[in-house]
Amino acid sequence: MSDYVKDLMAEVKAKNPAQPEFHQAVQEVAESLAVVLDRHPEYRSAKILERIIEPERVITFRVPWVDDQGEIHINRGYRIEMNSAIGPYKGGLRFHPSVTLGILKFLAFEQVFKNSLTTLPMGGGKGGSDFDPKGKSDLKIMRFCQAFMSELFRHIGPDTDVPAGDIGVGGREIGYMFGMYKKLRNEFTGVLTGKGLNWGGSLIRPEATGYGAVYFASEMLSTRGKTLEGKTCLVSGSGNVAQYTVEKINQLGGKVVTLSDSNGYIYDEKGINAEKLAFVMELKNVRRARIQDYIDKYKEAVYTPVDPKNDFNPLWNHKADCAFPSATQNEVNGKDAANLVRNGVYCVSEGANMPTNLDGVKVFLDGKILYGPGKAANAGGVATSGLEMSQNSMRLPWTREEVDNRLRMIMKSIHANCVEKAERFGTPGNYVNGANIGGFLKVADAMMDQGVV
Ligand code: NDP
Repeated sequence: MSDYVKDLMAEVKAKNPAQPEFHQAVQEVAESLAVVLDRHPEYRSAKILERIIEPERVITFRVPWVDDQGEIHINRGYRIEMNSAIGPYKGGLRFHPSVTLGILKFLAFEQVFKNSLTTLPMGGGKGGSDFDPKGKSDLKIMRFCQAFMSELFRHIGPDTDVPAGDIGVGGREIGYMFGMYKKLRNEFTGVLTGKGLNWGGSLIRPEATGYGAVYFASEMLSTRGKTLEGKTCLVSGSGNVAQYTVEKINQLGGKVVTLSDSNGYIYDEKGINAEKLAFVMELKNVRRARIQDYIDKYKEAVYTPVDPKNDFNPLWNHKADCAFPSATQNEVNGKDAANLVRNGVYCVSEGANMPTNLDGVKVFLDGKILYGPGKAANAGGVATSGLEMSQNSMRLPWTREEVDNRLRMIMKSIHANCVEKAERFGTPGNYVNGANIGGFLKVADAMMDQGVV
């Protein structure tokens, strides 16, 4: 680690105590950028990186709400407005009991680079709450979403800050929040993305993150003359990103053998085909049940509970060609990464945000496998949110084919940008450096143009 990065990290840790995920995200980026800052002292003297790691604005607020039994609950709401140099703040809302300021700051920080890579004019932000939607009735979810929006509405807007979904926030929650925003503002605008199709949503937005991660994997594979046809793939999670990752892998001729949730994972050696995926979608999106129920219907599959306290996750210990971590941050550690490489995995495309910890990233880079970090590989979701914003502004919806083609072109261009930046700054084939540098340069130049603000 260079002296510059060491000093920067010491300051980040002192100023932002007890935010390990934020420290991790900053360290990875700072290490990639050391060479850029050496070649461009103007960024260093303008303190561009020091400014990027400090959010432009952090909003925290009380979310009191009354459940269907009349009991009062109090959650904490957040919106991190990280960087608006290249466009309005843009990034999802996460509802999960593990949400803290540090988690949302790491996500907002990653979002700045990811949004820059998409080629679209979007700044970076992230928000959410420690509210746990799991097992709650529709009425409780609606009441919480309305209470959350009754404060958030004064901080967001179609040209200011445009939230979307993330863990625990899907079409249902976006609908309840959009309804409340519209009532409070008396305006129908594209203030949220991930909306329903008949009220301003975009075709392909639900599919976009998963499809994009698979398109990115295809691009990486093509650099070695390979395709997904006939490849065995490990996928974690069973939510929005995981489901559409499976769908696209199947369409491209691959075979997915795993899916998971926070309790455990299923291994289906025959592959999770379209019919089985439809069952998973019904299980998770309609019945809101556990992935364990998969084996009640498909007896050939095996369910294994996973204890997060163990030092490795058995999901990552199967023979395969490709892996798509699509659940949550730090779900792949150094040991998991070593197991993946030992089992023959040579392509990892991250659907989730920062699912691999720093030890794991090192294993992938040392092993010289094709490793697409989340901020590049999962950028298809926010890119299609950007396309939803364009359609809202034009008040003109595009066809499925049009959005999918644009998504594919954006993933292709993100891949090309990562390859080019990695090569230009001396680490060919390193997508981590490529993504961090590619995302940084556009934001840094905009900040230089706009002065010290
Ligand atoms: P969902 O809420 O739809 O699904 C999340 C999945 O991950 C569920 O299967 C959930 O299991 C599992 N999960 C959540 N927390 C944990 C945990 N602590 N340990 C193990 N499993 C866990 O979310 P998404 O699919 O939308 O998001 C998944 C990842 O993709 C996140 O990292 C998110 O930030 C990232 N992402 C999402 C985008 C999007 O467009 N939705 C865009 C870009 C990135 P359970 O049901 O048990 O909670």
